[in-house]
Amino acid sequence: MEKDLTCLTLEQLESLVVTLGGKRFLAKYLFSFIHGKNTQQIDDITPLPKAFRDKLIGQGYCIGRIQPADQLTDPDGTVKFVFALHDQNRIESVLLTDENDRKTLCISCQAGCRMGCTFCATGKLGFARNLTAGEIVEQVNQAVAICGKVNNVVYMGMGEPFDNYEATIDSIHILNHPDGHNIGQRHITVSTCGLPDSIRRFAGENLQVRLAVSLHAPDDDLRTKLMPVAGKYPIEQILRAVQGYQQHGGRRITMEYCMIEGINDADHHARSLARKLKGIHAAVNLIEYNPHSGCPFHPSSRNRIHQFRDRLAEAGIETMIRYKRGAGIKAACGQLGATQLEGLL
Ligand code: SF4
Repeated sequence: MEKDLTCLTLEQLESLVVTLGGKRFLAKYLFSFIHGKNTQQIDDITPLPKAFRDKLIGQGYCIGRIQPADQLTDPDGTVKFVFALHDQNRIESVLLTDENDRKTLCISCQAGCRMGCTFCATGKLGFARNLTAGEIVEQVNQAVAICGKVNNVVYMGMGEPFDNYEATIDSIHILNHPDGHNIGQRHITVSTCGLPDSIRRFAGENLQVRLAVSLHAPDDDLRTKLMPVAGKYPIEQILRAVQGYQQHGGRRITMEYCMIEGINDADHHARSLARKLKGIHAAVNLIEYNPHSGCPFHPSSRNRIHQFRDRLAEAGIETMIRYKRGAGIKAACGQLGATQLEGLL
């Protein structure tokens, strides 16, 4: 899929068009028809001169689309899409609709993941490959075609966005562009397991995108047991990178914390977390853990989650609780790829 036009930002399309001897403004037609109108064939972009369409097709350019392979709806309204890629790898995206009918799409950036978090089905699956920017954006194109406008996009599906850095950044520019889906940068969240160099690099992109960091433990020993990558990047390093990011743009960070019974959910963990976050402009998302086969953990009780939240609140830390959604169709946090995983167990 080397010549997939879906992967290119408007600026990249402009360079391509000029290289092929066309007028720069023709790139706008390509971009808006591919991302705004979901056009399937280059030949259907009729505002482009026929000779130029023929040139693109003759040189092997195409509009790469991913194929919907399955769609499941949970009784709570959550929808999970399974998409087949051209090489038969499968990825999943999840659409959540809130009480105001606003839609958030959780998208994948890799087929599998190499971070190996022990509580995550995707991590257990292992890593197949990076997605292209086109395959990342296509999840939005397809969801919009099936379910209508998407208001928010979160990079919290399969894979680590900063382990596929360039494609992630290109896909943000494509999704944000007014001639495409026009999703405001503040309505896009990138969630990382905490790669300090990439957080620093991301600060330099000057995007208004929201950043979330998966912490899941208040100390390095426990965190390494849950997230092997923590052995390489201590929490202090991550928090220093986060502070640098905030000095650059002043934006609040969300710390993701998955509540696992008897592992990371005691009051002393909450107090320790609060101490760690002192001086950081951060809110904490407590995520109700979602069990799946192949993983021995259980979710904390709701009472425990509330107490944990109260300890953080006592320390002045704003805390939200994210209850399980879509667990019945294995669409909840940490469950993506669980069906593929069951097939392997
Ligand atoms: S939690 Fe995220 S980073 Fe960790 S293995 Fe799962 S997909 Fe990868």
